[in-house]
Amino acid sequence: MTEDELDAETAFSLLADETRVAIVRELGAATASPETGIPHLSYAELQARVDIRDSGRFNYHLTKLLGNYVAKESDGYRLRWPGMVLYRTLVAGLLTEEASALDDTSVGTDCHRCGEPIEISLYETLVRVRCRACDATYTDIYLPSHGLTDRGVEDLVPAVHRRSRTILGAMTAGQCPWCARAVSPDVHDGGPLPSHHDTRDLDAYAVYHCTDCTGFQYAPVSQVLCFEPVAIAFYHDRGYDLTAIPAWELGWAVTDRTTDVLERDPWRFSVCVPLDGEELVVELDQRLDVVDSTVRP
Ligand SMILES: [Zn+2]
Ligand SMILES: [Zn+2]
Repeated sequence: MTEDELDAETAFSLLADETRVAIVRELGAATASPETGIPHLSYAELQARVDIRDSGRFNYHLTKLLGNYVAKESDGYRLRWPGMVLYRTLVAGLLTEEASALDDTSVGTDCHRCGEPIEISLYETLVRVRCRACDATYTDIYLPSHGLTDRGVEDLVPAVHRRSRTILGAMTAGQCPWCARAVSPDVHDGGPLPSHHDTRDLDAYAVYHCTDCTGFQYAPVSQVLCFEPVAIAFYHDRGYDLTAIPAWELGWAVTDRTTDVLERDPWRFSVCVPLDGEELVVELDQRLDVVDSTVRP
């Protein structure tokens, strides 16, 4: 390890002081502010913003952050990239805030399993889109508490969709959304789903698991089509934006009702996507890559 590299213990111990956290927060806020929009603060300005009179103490803590989280340049002090990541974590409320309360609210779609309303609810810090009557869970996603504040239900539902799409989209594109490691899908044979809170009965499902950072998602194999150009174009050609439609509204995506298992070793699937009286039929291989597609009336 070179002197510039930061080991995890040092990275965490550097933050064991509220003045240092305040310095990161103020440098980040100055960069983010549309008024200043400047990445640098002078020593005096930074001290004033951190609101600490004791110059010796301020200087001591600022010096501790130099090199790792903060850079000193001719224009003043600015956050280095790890400092910026830390600031974003603070803003997202990952370290500091409790998730705000969210009453169970209908998302306006009925359960594809039992017909009762699908509801959105908060469980610890996870947002769940599920049917309370039969426990089918259609989305289970971490949404930073910052994303929950000041949002009414009508804004929250699309926000949860976008968040969920971002996470699963990264996984289906082959990259862990949290640590950037390469991931590939593992197809699992039916049985109980990884989440005990999900009672959907699926013949097969795809698991994306990052063994480096614990990043994890699973989905019916048909749901990968929400990210495939062939399905996006099929919707687009008929006047719809597939990327804007929450998965829980798409029965073909969140159940396996229109998925046929053609072969098990290696896996091969046929997925039928119905829309306005036509059908897109797509064949997927064991990597869940599209190998064939046709549109039929
Ligand atoms: Zn249900
Ligand atoms: Zn990862």
